[in-house]
Amino acid sequence: MIDNHPMRPGTRVIHGGQRPEPVTGAIMPPIFTAATYVQESPGKHKGFEYTRSHNPTRYALERMVASLEGSSVSEEQDPSCGGFAFASGLAATATILELVDHGSRVVAMDDLYGGTRRLMSQVRARSQGLDLHYADLSDNAVCAEVLTPETRMVWVETPTNPLMKIADLTAIAEIAKAANPDVLLACDNTFACPRHQRPFEHGFDIVMHSSTKYLNGHSDVVGGMVVVNDAPLAERLRFLQNAIGSVMGPMDAYLTLRGIKTLDVRMERHGNNAQRVAEFLEGHPQVERVVFPGLASHPQHELARRQMSGFGGMVTFFIQGGLEAARTLLESLHVFQLAESLGAVESLVNHPAIMTHASVPAETRAALGISDSLIRLSVGIEDAQDQIDDLERAFKAVRG
Ligand SMILES: *Cc1c(COP(=O)(O)O)cnc(C)c1O
Repeated sequence: MIDNHPMRPGTRVIHGGQRPEPVTGAIMPPIFTAATYVQESPGKHKGFEYTRSHNPTRYALERMVASLEGSSVSEEQDPSCGGFAFASGLAATATILELVDHGSRVVAMDDLYGGTRRLMSQVRARSQGLDLHYADLSDNAVCAEVLTPETRMVWVETPTNPLMKIADLTAIAEIAKAANPDVLLACDNTFACPRHQRPFEHGFDIVMHSSTKYLNGHSDVVGGMVVVNDAPLAERLRFLQNAIGSVMGPMDAYLTLRGIKTLDVRMERHGNNAQRVAEFLEGHPQVERVVFPGLASHPQHELARRQMSGFGGMVTFFIQGGLEAARTLLESLHVFQLAESLGAVESLVNHPAIMTHASVPAETRAALGISDSLIRLSVGIEDAQDQIDDLERAFKAVRG
């Protein structure tokens, strides 16, 4: 495998964990749709028994993402090198939560993807008795208080959705492991993607992705990924992936692998475009405030520069004029299409209070600062000038 050689990120997204298919030499893995595999004699097979448990197309994707995240798990230790693909990001999260026992203390970032919070608070608090604590883990003083020796799992998203807060992964890992060396540290790395941030390098144990977003990048697959960094944890997750069964299908695995091949060039363009759009918004009289880690005005710009090699394509801003102005703007944009999701080639715009974060209670939204004037952009890879022209046209419509 070329993976045995050191690779820079732009090469890794094409070759990471990949090798030619052994029978034909095909450069891309075939889409193995078979549900089952024929055995020579009972229990005598080629390492593949049933597709929920083993699928070569899924393995190819899983090894790729494991390679991108820099997992140290070898193929000898685990057939997919510590990478695991699921039917959705939430299926991945649901499976990770099964690593902790009933009643466990779980500390999570307060500004979370709405669906993650819904799963934790409205499902697992009841069915798994999770003792949940949401806190602003971007504040190290708060971390020192909430990351107690009883904490079994820490769940971090950085940058957060939609407020773009940055959590200091190294600091959290140090504080949490000092309190409890067995704590499991999980990072939802969907926003930064492994091109710009690799949580294992900061002492985290588990990386999760909604591969629906940047990894696949083409708005045509819903999926989730988990990567772990040590063999015993890989064994536990392999057991859970098979036992719970919310696996990614082979077609989706193939499409996601194909999408990843352009991750490096896409992220470069996303980042450049987002920087330009953020700077345009920051200078606009109808904008109250812009939140983008690549702006010097971001309160954690220095930390973002240390922790990330680029800032991604997500830009949040507050429009003047409240809900009325936000609604008119959203109805007037054309290049930015009004839709949930993010991280794809198309630019999207979202109103979290009404759309993605509607499941977060109104008081919580207010406490977090997810107001009616907050607008979230997923800046796509179109020409940046068309994106800016689109925004300018929509601001003009708001002015009436
Ligand atoms: C979309 C998203 C999820 C959930 O993933 P699905 O693929 O929609 O299940 C989790 N975390 C973040 C940050 C997301 O953007």
